[in-house]
Amino acid sequence: MTVSIQYNKDLQALNTLTTPAVADAFCAVHDNPELDEALAYARREQLLITVLGEGSNVVLGDTLPGLVLHLRNRGREVLGEDSAQVTLAVAGGESWHSLVRWCLQQGYHGLENLALIPGTVGAAPIQNIGAYGVEVERFIVSVNCRDLGTGEPVIFQREECKFGYRDSIFKGELRDRMIVEQVVFCLPKQVAPVLDYPSLASYLQAQDIAAASPRQVFAAVVAIRSSRLPNPRLVPNVGSFFKNPILDPAALQALQVMLPDVPHYARGAGHYVVPAAHLIAASGIRSRTDLRSRNGAPVSLHPDHALVIINPDHCSAAAVQRYAGHIVAAVDAQFGIRLEQEPRSYG
Ligand SMILES: Cc1cc2nc3c(=O)[nH]c(=O)nc-3n(C[C@H](O)[C@H](O)[C@H](O)COP(=O)(O)OP(=O)(O)OC[C@H]3O[C@@H](n4cnc5c(N)ncnc54)[C@H](O)[C@@H]3O)c2cc1C
Repeated sequence: MTVSIQYNKDLQALNTLTTPAVADAFCAVHDNPELDEALAYARREQLLITVLGEGSNVVLGDTLPGLVLHLRNRGREVLGEDSAQVTLAVAGGESWHSLVRWCLQQGYHGLENLALIPGTVGAAPIQNIGAYGVEVERFIVSVNCRDLGTGEPVIFQREECKFGYRDSIFKGELRDRMIVEQVVFCLPKQVAPVLDYPSLASYLQAQDIAAASPRQVFAAVVAIRSSRLPNPRLVPNVGSFFKNPILDPAALQALQVMLPDVPHYARGAGHYVVPAAHLIAASGIRSRTDLRSRNGAPVSLHPDHALVIINPDHCSAAAVQRYAGHIVAAVDAQFGIRLEQEPRSYG
C-alpha cells in the first residue's frame, strides 16, 4: 500500500472555521492510483467515507467516524480550443481561485465574478458556487467522479447535475456517494462580462469604469470581497452560514408587510431570492446579548457581515451550531422564515 492512512488525525487546521475535530482515519490522495487504493481500503474495512477539500464549507464536529479522504490531485488540460472557446479538464484538488486567475491570464473568460472563493475545483459543482451574478454551472460541461462504493468512474453531463441555487445532485440523491475527481469546463474567449450585480455595478461606477474588461471585473471582485469578507486565515469562518431564502410571490408579499423595503430579485418563474443577511440584521439579533453562546464562547456574527459567523476562539462545532440555532429561531419568530444552513455539518 503506497497511500498513508493516518489515524486520529487532527482536522482543526483543515477546516476554515477551525473547530476542533479528529478523524478516525485520514488519507490525502494525490492521483488515480492513490484514490483506487484509498477506496479499496475503505471497502475492505467497511468504512464510511467523508470527502474533504479545503474545508471552507463544512462544520466539523469533535469526531469524524470512518475515513476522511482529502483530495490533492493536480492538473489542467486543454481538451479542445478554437477562436471562440476552450474546453478544459481540471483536477478536483486544484485551488479554485488559482484556476480563475490562470484562466484570466490565458484569455479564457467568464470565471472572474467567482474570484477569491476559497476551496477546491472538485467542491465547486457540489453547491454550484456562485457570486456577483454568476454561478459555476454555466461553464460546466461535465463532472467526472468516482463512485465511493464501487470505485468505478462515473461522468455526469451538466444537465444531469440538477444544478440549482447552492445546490446540485451531489447534495441531493447522490449525497456521500461520489468524489469529484475532475471537472470539465467550456469557457468563452470573447469578452462578455456580467456586470449587473448591484455591488459590482456600483463599485465599477465609483471607479468610473464604463465597459469593464474581465481583468477589471476580476480586480473589482477581489477588492469588494477583500473589503467585505473576513479572510478565513485570520478570522475563522465559512463564508455565508445561511442560504438566501427563495420565496413564492405570496410569501414575499407577506414579508413586505413587515419589511416594506426588503431587497429581492427574481430567480426563475414565480420565485424571489431575499438576502438572509437583511433578515438577520432586521431581526435585531446583533444587539441581543443572549445570543452569545451560553458558556460564554465568543462565536458571533461578523461586525460587517450579518451572514458570516466567526469563530475566533476556535470553539467547538456544538457551540457554532448552538449560536446558529439562535439566529434561525430569531428570524423564524420575527418573519416566519426558516433559514437553511449552507455549510455541511459532519460528526
Ligand atoms: C470567506 C469565504 C467566502 C466564501 N464565499 C463563497 C461564495 O461567494 N460563493 C459560494 O458559493 N461559496 C462561498 N464560500 C463557500 C466555499 O468556499 C465553497 O463552497 C467551496 O466550493 C468549498 O470548497 P472546499 O474545497 O473548501 O470544500 P469543503 O469545505 O472541503 O467541502 C464542502 C462540501 O463539498 C464536498 N466536497 C468537497 N470536495 C469534494 C470532491 N472533490 N468530491 C465530492 N465532494 C466534495 C464535501 O464533502 C463537503 O460536503 C465561501 C467560504 C468562505 C470561507
